[in-house]
Amino acid sequence: MSVFIVLLGPPGAGKGTQAKVVSQRMGLPHISSGEIYRENIKNQTALGKLAKGYIDRGELVPDDVTIAIIQERLSRPDCKPGALLDGFPRTPAQAEALERILLQFKGDVAIVPYISVPEDVLVSRLIGRWTCRAGAHVFHEQFNPPQRTGTCDYDGSELYQRDDDKFETVSHRISVYLQQTLPLIEYYKMQGKLFEVDGTLPIDQVSSVLLEELSRIVTG
Ligand code: AMP
Repeated sequence: MSVFIVLLGPPGAGKGTQAKVVSQRMGLPHISSGEIYRENIKNQTALGKLAKGYIDRGELVPDDVTIAIIQERLSRPDCKPGALLDGFPRTPAQAEALERILLQFKGDVAIVPYISVPEDVLVSRLIGRWTCRAGAHVFHEQFNPPQRTGTCDYDGSELYQRDDDKFETVSHRISVYLQQTLPLIEYYKMQGKLFEVDGTLPIDQVSSVLLEELSRIVTG
């Protein structure tokens, strides 16, 4: 049986950090739409050029573009056992498209962990965030500092501040989330798939709560 997990939460909730831990522990590929876009921007592909304007403004890349890249990614053989989706879906149209895509593989969304964090905490988390160039590991100058300033603890690569983590863009990203992504909480709650985790808990504790619930679902 394949296991598709959708990780939901506002920007700055810690989805990327948790997705890395969970995907590794569960042996599932970690699919981050934001990461796919950042890779394409770095490699200056046509997709990267198209996405960059939206991302820099803190807006969502249009649904048809995002749905197509996720469909292509999910059709690769490594997703046969399932996948952990981080940052997709972000709109009701994307959630419906995901169901159609998974149906083609006779799969379905198994569980939707929702990492909740109050709005006022998000801004300070995002503007202090530093991301590594090689593996997209994430640190925070105050809440989760690297051992050496400017260097990733895991792979030694340089840490940088994402353009869309700058103050001007952060509040816009949060309002885009509230308008376009928040309806998904209700959508998945109605389907009985939502599992809410308190994202203000320490990182390790959030991971254990998540892993415990996920293993219960998988071993069912
Ligand atoms: P993230 O790394 O998930 O915070 O994504 C960074 C940016 O990439 C977002 O602010 C959007 O501009 C874009 N992006 C990522 N995922 C999606 C998506 N599912 N739909 C539309 N745009 C997305």
